[in-house]
Amino acid sequence: MPCPFLKETRVKYCQSASVRKMIPLASSGCADEKCASPDHASCTVYRAQNGAAEAGPVCPYLQESLMQYCGAAPVAKFVPYSESLLSRCGNNSHRYCELYLGLARPQEAPEEVDGLPVPGWLDYSRNHMWLDLTDDGVCHVGIDAFLARALGKVDRISYVGSKGARRPMAVVTTGNCDLQILFPNAMMVTGCNLYLRADPARLTADPFVGGWLFEGTPLPETTESLLGAATAPGWMAQEVRRANEFLQQEVVSAHAGAVGALAADGGMFAEGLAQHLDREQLLGFFEEFFAPDISRTVKREP
Ligand code: SF4
Repeated sequence: MPCPFLKETRVKYCQSASVRKMIPLASSGCADEKCASPDHASCTVYRAQNGAAEAGPVCPYLQESLMQYCGAAPVAKFVPYSESLLSRCGNNSHRYCELYLGLARPQEAPEEVDGLPVPGWLDYSRNHMWLDLTDDGVCHVGIDAFLARALGKVDRISYVGSKGARRPMAVVTTGNCDLQILFPNAMMVTGCNLYLRADPARLTADPFVGGWLFEGTPLPETTESLLGAATAPGWMAQEVRRANEFLQQEVVSAHAGAVGALAADGGMFAEGLAQHLDREQLLGFFEEFFAPDISRTVKREP
């Protein structure tokens, strides 16, 4: 489905001009313009062609074409119809476009598990990442609300690796720890959310939309072992319980004073857990929930 802000119009332009200026037909005054009348013979650009094209009542270099443009952008940039179909404007990827998100806030409210949103239109990996695979063959990857809550404040995001077929990976810095966030299955990576490098807080504040990490196209193995709408809510409830048990055993029992910092209302671990744990505890928590089969943590020296 194309973006609702994607518009189309017919434009005219001079094929011989050094800078191609597109003029929408709807906004041009046709009757008296030079290009569409015998007056084109006096045009310097026309005369510079030295009669290469046959003269007529309309300039032979005047062209018309069907173009598309973004109705949400402050300045319209025209692109040929075929190009917009290849970009995110012409398919469901428009849901991750910054301009689109600035004007529209789509999609129904997601189901929640213990206060954590678990959108039913996504698939989930067991290390708390999501995959959005749409009918038009484009996919996006990000982190789920469990991981976002555990991370809390993020200081920096770096992307590892280039485009191509691979398991997409980012390094998230919080406090004095660098944490590797790795999607478990390979995909054909075509891009990363570079806005997050300037505004890393968005990764955890808006993890399912503006905080997306990677985009690309699926490979046969991209959806392997992921949890869908039928199983993800139950799995998430188990993960919340398991997290609380883990924290009670591994952290609170060792540091009695940490109880208030880790146990928030309703039995859910505290938001920004990473800021409440020391480095060893944080690495242990990530090893248990985000690393075992897939992601790993890297310890930085202070
Ligand atoms: S640039 Fe963004 S808002 Fe504009 S048409 Fe494309 S997807 Fe839609």
